[in-house]
Amino acid sequence: MKDSFADLGLGQELLTELAALGYEEPTPIQKAAIPPLVAGRDLLGQAATGTGKTAAFALPMLERIGRERAEPLKPLGLVLVPTRELAVQVAEAYGSYGKGLRVSVVPVFGGADFRKQAMGLRKGAQVVVATPGRALDHMRRESLDLSALKMVVLDEADEMLDMGFAEDLEAILNATPETRQTALFSATLAPRIARIAEKHLNDPERVQIAREKGVKGTAAKVRQVAFVVPRAFKVVTLGRVLDMEDPALALVFCRTRIEVDELADALTGRGYRVEALHGGMGQMDRDRVMRKARGQAVDVVVATDVAARGIDIDHLSHVVNFDVPPAPETYVHRIGRTGRAGREGTAITIATPREGRMMRNIESLTKQRFEMADVPTPDQVRSRRLDRMKAELAKAVEAGELEPFLSTVRAMDMDPAELAAAALKSLHEARRGDHAAEDKLQVPKWEDRGGPAHPRAEREPRGKERPDRGAGWKKKTPMRGDRGTPEFVRVFVGGGKRMGMRPADLVGAIANEADVNPRALGGIEIEELASFVEVPAQEADHIIQVLRKSTLRGRKVKVNRDLGFRRAAPPHKR
Ligand code: AMP
Repeated sequence: MKDSFADLGLGQELLTELAALGYEEPTPIQKAAIPPLVAGRDLLGQAATGTGKTAAFALPMLERIGRERAEPLKPLGLVLVPTRELAVQVAEAYGSYGKGLRVSVVPVFGGADFRKQAMGLRKGAQVVVATPGRALDHMRRESLDLSALKMVVLDEADEMLDMGFAEDLEAILNATPETRQTALFSATLAPRIARIAEKHLNDPERVQIAREKGVKGTAAKVRQVAFVVPRAFKVVTLGRVLDMEDPALALVFCRTRIEVDELADALTGRGYRVEALHGGMGQMDRDRVMRKARGQAVDVVVATDVAARGIDIDHLSHVVNFDVPPAPETYVHRIGRTGRAGREGTAITIATPREGRMMRNIESLTKQRFEMADVPTPDQVRSRRLDRMKAELAKAVEAGELEPFLSTVRAMDMDPAELAAAALKSLHEARRGDHAAEDKLQVPKWEDRGGPAHPRAEREPRGKERPDRGAGWKKKTPMRGDRGTPEFVRVFVGGGKRMGMRPADLVGAIANEADVNPRALGGIEIEELASFVEVPAQEADHIIQVLRKSTLRGRKVKVNRDLGFRRAAPPHKR
């Protein structure tokens, strides 16, 4: 098995970007799909969201066409996706992987300004990422010509068929050259997918990540809990869950080195003793972290899969998947780290609705259902913290040796109950740090009527064809900006890392005070002295007004439109 990106046939420009993004090793679908695609083969891949499938087709496409320039209106690569949200995400991924190759990628999707998209295409995009309906519109109005196309990807093909795009797909594929290379990715390989593959793929390599047999034994000892929240609320969710669970030692898995460092910082800020562990660290540093973890001098270790391989610590009580892992087998390996030596372990998974399919796959491998839990409320967290402090105080009374403190208390001559309550209050405030704003955040609740595998609310509306199975966010923040143009405006906020600004502060203020759904927000960047957040264009003025009036991290800060912006932040900044 090829283990590194360098073994997969990718050029130096791409390897450099992958290293910069903190990717340590290819996921199983990437190991299987990249070599045949780089070699020019067609491919039929079964992979759900969360497996790393986007990079599995984007990297080989960039490798093959990234060094060629495209003529105006005639892209070399086309990716068809079911939703505008996915179009933006995939285009962002191309943007970040293709930085070194200076690849230009244009996303086109319904609901956004047609002429602006046409202008982008006229400049000569190498790659177009499109929803089928809008791609056809551009073809009809001659702002998209597929005659020079070298590679086509159908991403989430089953979803596109579900949404009634079958004829559109057919029409688009018929307008492409016979010689093109084609890849089809789908979470399921139902007969209708097989029919499309039969008709449009040429002797495809088939990639289906092999399933290990059921692993009931390992998983059974471990309690498996899952939280489904919008991406922007993951850190808050994790903080609250840790507060409630009070782990002896938690091992938190992230996908990339950058995410590990960012999350370790965020948790340190919440008062935990945290260590990061990833492949970018030297052996001595890693050994130091492991020694501290074994010696119970750490509450949380945040790690990548590569760095955490082989970790075996008896008192590890919790494994946390900060993202759904890229393969069900990885999940099983991760949670096998806890529940050792006959003890009970807990595995916590924090997922976004889009990752529902991966959760189903994990359930079918472990033969165990996730316990779908509600994010703890601020009240629950506070009362749990107080319970813990009460227990600590009782222990301290029992341990005695209070003499020097007692004499101070006697000298104060105050009501003992009031004095004790004041002491408890300051202890509570000191422990909580300055998280008052975060503590008030209401995390929207995902209503799981169709199961987490049916994130219908995140799809592009398609008139009567749009399936509506009724799932959605329960807290009905008005979906401002969610149905209109997804054009973003970048907003400048005059405070950054130096004043302790975190993405959750901005998301929290915008969600709760401007009443804007957090999912409608784009990228967030926190720099030393300033932060930038992308907000839906039609909401920008409202959000700016509200932010100007509110306080962030306890301060009033400058808030303005950031002039001249049209770029989306790379995905890892979210
Ligand atoms: P996808 O399944 O394409 O939606 O990807 C899921 C997430 O995994 C995205 O946030 C990617 O940036 C991330 N990702 C993809 N490949 C890797 C990798 N080899 N290492 C770490 N993260 C990855």
